[in-house]
Amino acid sequence: MSDDPETVRQIAELAPGDRPLLVLDVDEVVLEFVRPFVKFLETQDLLLKTDSFRIHGNVFDRSTRLPVQDQRVTTLMTAFFEAQETWQTAVDGAAAAVAELAAAVEVVMLSSMPHGHRPLRRRLLDRLGFPYPLLTTEAAKGPAIQRMRGGGGRPVAFVDDIPNNLLSVQRAVPDARLFHLMAHSELRALLLPLPEGIVAVSGWREAGPLIAKALKR
Ligand SMILES: [Mg+2]
Repeated sequence: MSDDPETVRQIAELAPGDRPLLVLDVDEVVLEFVRPFVKFLETQDLLLKTDSFRIHGNVFDRSTRLPVQDQRVTTLMTAFFEAQETWQTAVDGAAAAVAELAAAVEVVMLSSMPHGHRPLRRRLLDRLGFPYPLLTTEAAKGPAIQRMRGGGGRPVAFVDDIPNNLLSVQRAVPDARLFHLMAHSELRALLLPLPEGIVAVSGWREAGPLIAKALKR
């Protein structure tokens, strides 16, 4: 079960349901993260190199060309999340595709981030057309989704851009249908081949019909 007591509390607040369950990560799945973060860095005369799959170590000073220390990168990411309402936008096609799916399934968004950012992310998601429940976790996603599913064995699908999160769900909910979606195509191209059982999709136009099919009882 989930290791994060605040996530457990948030799950308990969800209305109990037996519809098929679709759980969506937020950054890079329904909200653009990398593209706006690059623009945010530009305002501070910094740049993000996107030739390897990480952020720490890849932020550089545009004038000196020197890498930015890890601690400052962490501070910059926190500042970005605090200003996310100014910067982050919806992933192309996401709002319409998820709305269509939500007619037949229960949609829950599960974001790995400090719980303190939940209220402003909630406001942003509402504004961008994602009125579904938003849960935050500071622990692994698999146990949280196992708990959300409940005991009835309803179908589960999960979409994330981080392979480790998909693997966490594969371990905790072995029959969950797993989809890898990352809005930033340049970074997506750098990913190692995905583990078995994870379906790679290039965007929401492709993902929508595949998820609908996966969640059919
Ligand atoms: Mg993400």
